[in-house]
Amino acid sequence: MKRKTFLQTISILPLTGIAMKLSDLSKITDPFNKTEKMPVLFLGHGSPMNAITENEFTRGWRDAGKSIQKPNAILCISAHWETRGTFVTAMEKPKTIHDFGGFPQELFDVEYPAPGSPTLAKETKDTITKTLVGLDDTWGLDHGAWSVIKHLYPNADVPVIQMSIDYGQTPQYHYELSKQLASLRRKGVLIIGSGNMVHNLGLVAWDKMNTSDYAYDWAAEASTKMKTFITEGDYQPLINYKSQGKPFQLAIPTPEHYLPLLYALALKEENESVSLFNDKAVAGSLTMTSVKIG
Ligand code: ZN
Repeated sequence: MKRKTFLQTISILPLTGIAMKLSDLSKITDPFNKTEKMPVLFLGHGSPMNAITENEFTRGWRDAGKSIQKPNAILCISAHWETRGTFVTAMEKPKTIHDFGGFPQELFDVEYPAPGSPTLAKETKDTITKTLVGLDDTWGLDHGAWSVIKHLYPNADVPVIQMSIDYGQTPQYHYELSKQLASLRRKGVLIIGSGNMVHNLGLVAWDKMNTSDYAYDWAAEASTKMKTFITEGDYQPLINYKSQGKPFQLAIPTPEHYLPLLYALALKEENESVSLFNDKAVAGSLTMTSVKIG
């Protein structure tokens, strides 16, 4: 509505009508209205098979979804989208990306048709001043996003965008970058980091795949220390994870599954509660430990 037309419209409305029209107008100009502050999640995603499996972890994700008011949209930082520079997906209909191999056809047949949100993509780009954020129209939803979000919102009725991880940057940079997303939490945006805190695929104990909560000593040690730092709000050692000794080196041989944790922690505000769930190890060298902030 043109401003002149709008002013003409309100001039002939009774007072109650004016209030209604103003709120309608704000919905048109900004669909991400001010809301209660949304929580932030870090989800340990593990095997892509969790997308089509019912187990304690998928139940944990579903319960986490139920404990949160339904978001206007989701912004997901997934371990599986690394780029040079930072991008957000900006298409109307993100495709489901099956970015894995060696799994049953059933998993390749999964589609998660959540809409995108060009509006949130633009808003995210405008919110971040630390770097130039590119609007992407080629990616979609990788399994780091859809294999978990599918359990939170099985009806695919919440728009999802992804933000990529710039592989050229330091952990401190990612932590600071994420802080700039803080205002989105009050616009009904659920920010999800999806990765795994302990993630060493090269050392997976394949014979212990079905042994519940099996962790190598180094994995258990790294996991315990990470959880202590998280619950005590002592994030600098987590950012400086490369200086935390051998267990951390083995737990984080490459950064992409770990960095989404830093994105989540960076958004914790003073006096917010932090809780852990799905806190178990899988096959020796992975942990599914997930975090809810707020
Ligand atoms: Zn992964």
